[in-house]
Amino acid sequence: MSSKGKQVQKGVLVLFSSPSGGGKTTIVDRLLKRHPDWVRSVSMTTRAARAGEKNGEDYFFVTKPEFEKMKADNGFLEYANVFDCEYGTPRPFVEKQVESGKTVVLAIDVQGMKKIKQAVGGKISLLSIFILPPSLKILRDRLEGRNTDTPEDIERRLDIAQEEIKQANCYDCTVVNQNLEDTVLEIDEIVNKFLKERR
Ligand code: 5GP
Repeated sequence: MSSKGKQVQKGVLVLFSSPSGGGKTTIVDRLLKRHPDWVRSVSMTTRAARAGEKNGEDYFFVTKPEFEKMKADNGFLEYANVFDCEYGTPRPFVEKQVESGKTVVLAIDVQGMKKIKQAVGGKISLLSIFILPPSLKILRDRLEGRNTDTPEDIERRLDIAQEEIKQANCYDCTVVNQNLEDTVLEIDEIVNKFLKERR
């Protein structure tokens, strides 16, 4: 980050990970509705947009050469290859928002969380939350129900989910997404407590 020396930045990062289909996108959307002053970092990806996804809102959908150019220009805070596609967190947006005191919400994978932790190196307050599905069976049902992935993709996503779940203990806290409304309230409480303790 472009923080000055060891000075702690005013804003905070709230980072969410969950296995694909774990519900983090919906949860993040609900949290942002409750807190219009929080901002979401929109990632850049080389994956194709799914039906209903909007460029600049869900992701910035770019070509591989465009992604590589951002990488070469040091334009990402972190990037990772997930399910054979590239994903990255644009650096300038996050740095600007944190410097202006905002609560910046990131929804990225486990590799990304580890890289962000390293990149901010204690200069920025960071809260990391892992959202767990109630069971792998329920995760499978959710992935099948959303009708966006082939059966092979679903199997891969489930394999990776099991690996990611093993790393949930690297996060500050874990929340089981049993019921959406309750999960949103629980996470809201966790984040607000974290923000209050920083003041
Ligand atoms: P999906 O293609 O299902 O939207 O996302 C696949 C995975 O990539 C999810 O775990 C999602 O959190 C992760 N992801 C999305 N954006 C980023 C990013 O900027 N960086 C990293 N490391 N992972 C990301």
